[in-house]
Amino acid sequence: MENVVKNFNLIKQEIIDKKNVKIVAVTKTFPISHILPVINEGHTDFGENKVQEAMEKWTSIKQDFPKINLHLLGKLQTNKVKFVLPLFDYIHSLDNLKLASKIAEEQIKKNFKPKIFIQVNVGEEPQKGGIEAADVENFYKKCVDEYKLNIIGLMSIPPFNKDSKPYFIKMKELSENLGLKDISMGMSNDYLEAVKQGSTFIRVGSKIFGARG
Ligand SMILES: *Cc1c(COP(=O)(O)O)cnc(C)c1O
Repeated sequence: MENVVKNFNLIKQEIIDKKNVKIVAVTKTFPISHILPVINEGHTDFGENKVQEAMEKWTSIKQDFPKINLHLLGKLQTNKVKFVLPLFDYIHSLDNLKLASKIAEEQIKKNFKPKIFIQVNVGEEPQKGGIEAADVENFYKKCVDEYKLNIIGLMSIPPFNKDSKPYFIKMKELSENLGLKDISMGMSNDYLEAVKQGSTFIRVGSKIFGARG
């Protein structure tokens, strides 16, 4: 088993001067026994990709550790929204209006407003989810004015196997244009660059927990 606490603390050390950066420890595919040492270190922010997996894994542990914030990182289907609230405190993957409308309904029903990032397809990749950069402003306004969502920032997954830096710079520019202060970007292979370019939520999985099987 990886020394997850050591891995985690190394990353924390690297960004120690960045007080406004949160590490979302991405725990998808790993069992709670593998994650518990990091929880016991006092870390509070964890990310999952799939709703079903998260429900099974986190429902009871969240009751034992009420300070834990759970972050949904993966594609969210509208029919799963009812399971997402209030299990997840953050949703990083809002990328269409149908979903926005569904979350709007559900947050009233549950009387719980998640913090939400709009996912941006910053690399303009046809296979990838996310709002096109040119459409982000309109989409953002609708989410806030019409659906009363608590949009805290933008999120992106830059193209795989390319230098992330220009995409991070673009994300920072988009965020500033909208006056949004949080940005969710940076993964195991590029989180240091992401932090340099203004990320406030880095999503780190394999660098902490090891390779996924
Ligand atoms: C899996 C995943 C991560 C973490 O990836 P690593 O390369 O293991 O750090 C971050 N963000 C999203 C959206 C993911 O699906």
